[in-house]
Amino acid sequence: MLEKLSILYELQLIDNQLDELEELRGDLPAAVNDLKFQINAIEEQIETKEAEKKSSLSKRKQNDEDVDRMKANLKKFKSQLYQVRNNKEYDALTKEIDHSEEQITKLEAESSALEDLVQKLKKEINEVEPQLDTLSKDLKEKETELKQIIKANEREEARLKDKRDKVAAKVRKPDYNTYSRIRKALGGKAVVTIIRAACSGCHNVVPPQRQLEIKSSKRLFSCESCGRILVSPDVAAEVEKKIKF
Ligand SMILES: [Zn+2]
Repeated sequence: MLEKLSILYELQLIDNQLDELEELRGDLPAAVNDLKFQINAIEEQIETKEAEKKSSLSKRKQNDEDVDRMKANLKKFKSQLYQVRNNKEYDALTKEIDHSEEQITKLEAESSALEDLVQKLKKEINEVEPQLDTLSKDLKEKETELKQIIKANEREEARLKDKRDKVAAKVRKPDYNTYSRIRKALGGKAVVTIIRAACSGCHNVVPPQRQLEIKSSKRLFSCESCGRILVSPDVAAEVEKKIKF
């Protein structure tokens, strides 16, 4: 059991070092993610607007062609008016002319609305594009900064991870799971010691009787206040002396 407690404490000390390296990155990883998310959202927005612009332009082109065709027909109908032989023909032709004129008016109004839409979309795209530039620049800077921090500690991190793997391999699976669960729930520290009669994790007093039991290192003891695994100061000192970073 003593061995088991020592190994758990050793694992904790290594993880403390790794956590410190992680902390050096500060909020950079979160900031990078956030910027990527924002850039992605704007790019999608621009893409949607570009697609709408494209389809509006093509619809307008189609309308213009239709209008040209109808105007040509209209001209033809109007010239035919002079050659009609009876009222029936005249009525049919004026009906055609009215219909064509109506269609032309309708299509021209639609084209004008499409043109307005295209201009509106262009304006909107132009407005967000500078944002995209600013965000991309910001992202590049933050990524570079983050890379530098990671690079500066690359070796140290690799060394600690290697050491961690070796120590973690010695921990029994259920203990490792308990350790990971506490670490995740309480942010970093799962195994702590007693300093000045208090749990060094939550600073609550550990009763003298409990301290004695922990000192005996006969089983895993948890802090009654925070639930972290407690090792006696003797075990902690022994491991701290033994471990070399
Ligand atoms: Zn505690």
